[in-house]
This record gives sequence, C-alpha cells and structure tokens, in this order.
Amino acid sequence: MAGLIHPVTIAGGGLAGLSLGIALLRRGACVTLHEAGQYPRHRVCGEFISGVTEKTLANLGIAECLDDAIHLETSCWFDAAGRLSSVPVRGMGISRWVLDHRLEAEFVRSGGILKTGSRIPPGEGVVWAAGRVRTEGKWIGVKCHVRDIRLAADLEMHIGTNGYAGLARIENGMVNVCGLFRRQKGIGGREALFQCLRAGGLTSLADRISRARPDPDSFCAVAGFETGRQAGPPCSVGDAANMIPPFTGNGMTMAFESAESAMPALLEYAAGKAGWNPVCKEVRHAQSRRFASRMRTACLLHSVILRWPGVLSTLARRGWIPSGFFLDRLRR
Ligand SMILES: Cc1cc2nc3c(=O)[nH]c(=O)nc-3n(C[C@H](O)[C@H](O)[C@H](O)COP(=O)(O)OP(=O)(O)OC[C@H]3O[C@@H](n4cnc5c(N)ncnc54)[C@H](O)[C@@H]3O)c2cc1C
Repeated sequence: MAGLIHPVTIAGGGLAGLSLGIALLRRGACVTLHEAGQYPRHRVCGEFISGVTEKTLANLGIAECLDDAIHLETSCWFDAAGRLSSVPVRGMGISRWVLDHRLEAEFVRSGGILKTGSRIPPGEGVVWAAGRVRTEGKWIGVKCHVRDIRLAADLEMHIGTNGYAGLARIENGMVNVCGLFRRQKGIGGREALFQCLRAGGLTSLADRISRARPDPDSFCAVAGFETGRQAGPPCSVGDAANMIPPFTGNGMTMAFESAESAMPALLEYAAGKAGWNPVCKEVRHAQSRRFASRMRTACLLHSVILRWPGVLSTLARRGWIPSGFFLDRLRR
C-alpha cells in the first residue's frame, strides 16, 4: 500500500502483537513493537493450536513459522478415576519457546523496529497486544516440558476437582504439560504444577510427570486473571481483548485471528485515512463480530467443567457429550 504516513506502535510481542506487526509491515506500514520481556522464553500455554486456517496464517504472512509444527489428531479425556472418552481433534503442537522466537525473527526480518525489555503504557496510536488484563482473578496457570513420557493420544486432557491439565506433543519428542487451576493458599513456586494436580485428585498424573524427565528450566506459572471479555484499552487485540478459556485450545488462534481482523482498520489509520478513535471502534466491532459466539459457548462450557466436574465425567463416560458439535461451536 503506497503512502502509509502514520507509524503504528504495538505494545506486547506475544502472538497477537508479532503477527499483527508482520502483517502490517508486509503491507508497507512502519511498525515499532515494545515487548516487556525477552526472546526466547517459556510461557504458560498448552501449546496446542486448534482452529486456525491456512488462509489466516497466509494473510498474516506467518505460515512458514508453523510449517513443521506437529500434527495432532487424537485426544483422550480422563478424570481421577481413569479414562472418560476419546475425541478426534485437529490441531498443531509447537512450543511457545520456538514459535514466539520465530515470529520475533520474522518481524525484524520484515523491517520492524523491536524494543525488548520495554514496557509502554496505553495511549493514542498504541495497539494494545499486552495479553490478559491483571486482576484479582481466582486462577493459576502452570506449565512445564517433559521428556520420556508416553501419551494415550496426541493430546491428553485431565479433569480434576479444582481445574484441568492438558498434555500435548510438541517438537523434539517433548510433551508440554499445562493446567489451569483454582488458586489456593500455599500453592506456588516450582512445585506449583504438582501441588495443583494433587490438590485436584490427579495424583497419578502428578506421579507420572515427576517419574518422567521434566525440563527444570521450563517450569512457569501465572496468576491473577479471569477468562472472558477483558477490560483492555480501546485498541486491544488478542488476550487483551478476549481471553477464551484454555481448554478450547483456541486462544492462540484467536490471537492470530484478532490480528487479522484489526489489520484493515489499522491500515486505514497508517494511510492517514481514518482517525484513531474510529479505528479503535472498528477494531472492537470486528472482534466482537468474529468472537462473540464462540466466547459465549466457551465460557458456558468452562463453568460446567469447573463447577460440576462429576456431571461432566458421567456424561462423558456414557458417550453423551456431542463433542463434534461443541468443537464446531468453539471455532466460529
Ligand atoms: C493455562 C493456560 C493454558 C493455555 N493453553 C492454550 C492452548 O493449549 N492453546 C491455545 O491456543 N491457547 C492457550 N492458552 C491461551 C494462549 O496462551 C493465549 O491466548 C495467547 O498467548 C494470547 O496471545 P497474546 O499475544 O494476546 O498475549 P501474550 O502471549 O500473553 O503476549 C502478551 C505480551 O505482552 C507483553 N507485555 C505485557 N505488558 C506490556 C507492556 N505494557 N508493554 C509491552 N509489552 C507488554 C508480555 O510480556 C507478553 O509477551 C492458554 C492460556 C493459559 C493461561
């Protein structure tokens, strides 16, 4: 696009910020991205990407970054008493260590100005891609990478009385273990993952993980957030706008899709054809159109899983959960 006169500033170099930056750069915009942390690094994430289309990846110019992601096709659900059901899935496994680092390199290669270790506040002209909004939220997210662990399927999901954990195949024969649990006093530090699993009755899973070879450097945890609509600043994308419950495996897809949805309005701004306030409004509307329905379904299912895990187990054991229907609803 010729004559892009307004530079675009992005706060946050996770998936939404980097993919948006790459897409804008490829269309001739001048982009500066501030990322509070450094690359590469481990992040609390299930590392299971589901629902993103090739078209979206190509539109953003990031398809190559996912070229060698592991294809995941089978999943198995468990509770503390054992296996509940097997469900076919369609997704990819890749660590955030690798993915974010590749996107960072692509952003710089495309001509973007990247400032790491730089935290900027919201303001006019700043696209907010800084992730979920900090709250007094009741959740803790925990994760680690494990070697030498055998899975019953490409993806295992384990439902506890205090939350859930997923195990997904990623690169180099490793498995990512990640869970979302209710916060409890006394849980924290490097043992947080095992403490959460045991507190939720998933003792045999905790034992299985500690018997395998967890990578000590990959343990990480985050707390203080709520899922659902986020109270991010006016021009927010990714988790800063909507955080879909993690069990859906759709958060990373939504980060990419929200970048894609925000792009046309931001290009108008970069071209000097639209002011900042109408652009913020259009970015918000575009995301609302794309995500409102799946957010409603995901938040409803999330409450069922967490409030009535016993009911879910009974229905799943009897094969009474229409998983194909829900998977479809969680993707559109
Ligand atoms: C427990 C758990 C499990 C999950 N599992 C999955 C899964 O299996 N599949 C899936 O698709 N999704 C999953 N998700 C969700 C997924 O991780 C997010 O949806 C995704 O990371 C959102 O990307 P983002 O770019 O919006 O935010 P983030 O990836 O959080 O990136 C935000 C970035 O902004 C930076 N930042 C923050 N403040 C500032 C500032 N002021 N200035 C500059 N930089 C700043 C941060 O350092 C960070 O790098 C999971 C989430 C959790 C919590």
